[in-house]
Amino acid sequence: MEPVIEIDQLTKTYIMGQTKVHALRGVDLLINTNEYVALMGPSGSGKSTLMNLLGCLDTPTLGNYKLDGKDVSVMDDTELANIRNEKIGFVFQTFNLLPRQSTLDNVALPLVYAGVPRKEREARAHEVLASVGLGDRTDHKPNELSGGQRQRVAIARALVNRPAIILADEPTGNLDTKTSIEIMEIFEKIQADGNTVIIVTHEPDIAEHAHRIVRLRDGSVETDELNAEIRRASDPEHRYNQA
Ligand code: ADP
Ligand code: MG
Repeated sequence: MEPVIEIDQLTKTYIMGQTKVHALRGVDLLINTNEYVALMGPSGSGKSTLMNLLGCLDTPTLGNYKLDGKDVSVMDDTELANIRNEKIGFVFQTFNLLPRQSTLDNVALPLVYAGVPRKEREARAHEVLASVGLGDRTDHKPNELSGGQRQRVAIARALVNRPAIILADEPTGNLDTKTSIEIMEIFEKIQADGNTVIIVTHEPDIAEHAHRIVRLRDGSVETDELNAEIRRASDPEHRYNQA
């Protein structure tokens, strides 16, 4: 099987006046279709930089990135915009909703860019809002919703183009524990539906929902391993010891 994400020596150096910030120092990573990966690591370790590169929101200083076997590093802005629209759904910690627009319009927005006619836009926004449990909130404005509901709107917006890959950068960072668990259940469902899911989180409890945990430190991959529960399940000896 071809990996959906294949990065090779991905490097990002930000130039700030006279100083260089080495945010990523040659990261290699293969992610297969339908994997569920948690990206962890201390603040400043390069998680958001990596997510922005994976999401084609930014370009690397050096290194290669193949998405679905296509070399993204050589694409121009138009091609990158198309990839972002068709293949990737991005969820941010701060939701990034338009305050004056209704829930339905916020969710339908990516379809406006994709040139989908209004009727179909609305039908698809309704459908995806129902799938995140907000079928009865379509006319609300963001400030009429709770934090967890706002994040669900943002997730619905990320899903509305039916992207194969969902990238979420600290999606529960602003939410309480109970709400975080509800949001993580939605990501689990998205993965069960066949999508590839990559989530940045600081919280071990949240990372435990993922199947694989990649840890960054100072711009490099420090560890890349299966989640402990999956390791135990696939290691009969260990399971025996646990019994
Ligand atoms: P994380 O998400 O793990 O906290 P980031 O990827 O945001 O880490 O940041 C990695 C490093 O790159 C940090 O030192 C940060 O200050 C720096 N950095 C991130 N974004 C920029 C930027 N746009 N311009 C300059 N430096 C940046
Ligand atoms: Mg970050």
